[in-house]
Amino acid sequence: MRDFAAELDQRRDAGLYRVRRHMAGPHQPQLTADGRPVLAFCSNDYLGLAGHPELIAAASRSLQDNGVGGAASHLICGHHAEHHRLEEALARFTRRSGALFFSTGYMANVGVITALAGKGDTIFSDALNHASIIDGCRLSGAKVKIYPHSDTCALAALLAETDGHKVVVTDGVFSMDGDVAPLRELAALCRRHDALLIVDDAHGFGCVGPDGRGSVLEAGLNENDVPLVVGTLGKAFGTSGAFVAGPPLLLDYLVQKARSYIYTTAMPPALASASCRSVALVEQEPQRRRQLDRLVNRFRAEAAAMGYNLMASATPIQPIMIGDAHEAMRLSGALERHGILVTAIRPPTVPAGESRLRVTFSAAHTDEHLDRLLDALSRHAPIQVPRRALVGA
Ligand code: PMP
Repeated sequence: MRDFAAELDQRRDAGLYRVRRHMAGPHQPQLTADGRPVLAFCSNDYLGLAGHPELIAAASRSLQDNGVGGAASHLICGHHAEHHRLEEALARFTRRSGALFFSTGYMANVGVITALAGKGDTIFSDALNHASIIDGCRLSGAKVKIYPHSDTCALAALLAETDGHKVVVTDGVFSMDGDVAPLRELAALCRRHDALLIVDDAHGFGCVGPDGRGSVLEAGLNENDVPLVVGTLGKAFGTSGAFVAGPPLLLDYLVQKARSYIYTTAMPPALASASCRSVALVEQEPQRRRQLDRLVNRFRAEAAAMGYNLMASATPIQPIMIGDAHEAMRLSGALERHGILVTAIRPPTVPAGESRLRVTFSAAHTDEHLDRLLDALSRHAPIQVPRRALVGA
């Protein structure tokens, strides 16, 4: 048998051991972690909808009407009218012909990629794509070519040297860096090389684009340019579940072929009911996106002035680049002693040497919350080196 204990020790020594904290409390962003009160700057509840009374009311009513469980898989007898209502709402929201509801974003990516690419095909995947895309690529049996992050020249060269069916897959907003994929260039390349483009906009929907309709619409592209988009409901929508939106032919194909859609119990209808309400709120309450933008701009200006190394992101994902995993853990621990929860993100989630604090913002954060984060950061800021001292160094 492998020495599992030694492997875990090695992980601890490298500063890569992960722990789960016991979170409790009413709603984001004020919670308790292992019994201590914390203000969280690490959730994906970007619009502050996870605890919204209207979502809770919609879910409660639906629980009374429809019961707790999903009962069966979609193709047996689990496909509920509430799932169908949500699919229609998501199709309208994304401005697409149709949408297919999955139980999680992880399952959506694995299902879509394994259904649409297989032996003899080639998938082109951005180096920073989410783990669920990576796993879908691995499971598919297709040849996988990984192109450097957002490098459309490198991708063009790879596409040109490849025969057969081609699929290009990318995050819309990258989950760990917060930057947006060069979607217009990707769409043009896919058109030129007859490749199918899939965009996972898990972090874009709700936050980016006109009325939060995502980074594909923000780039001025439609279903002809990007046939399939994947979204998750567990982030800006504040609920749980996921969807794939696109033309009826591809969605029908997925219903027939996507194993992570077919062979799992359907999501409880009450969550679909809550999500329907959430889609409406995302459209109707633009002030949530305005609040997010304000917080992000203020954070960027003040944290950069303290000497923190921020990344080129205009989204609610605002990583502070640290580099060393132990150092990232140290800063995360120091913030937690001030009651601020920001988790350190380390390899293998990010490349070696790129450990960071992934600060995320929510419309539920107030200016007073941001003051507390900035105050805690100011006490641990990197030493400022005057610009002149760097010249000739
Ligand atoms: N895609 C991306 C880009 C993600 O960041 C995530 C979640 N971390 C997922 C997919 C998976 O979504 P879900 O949490 O609904 O499984």
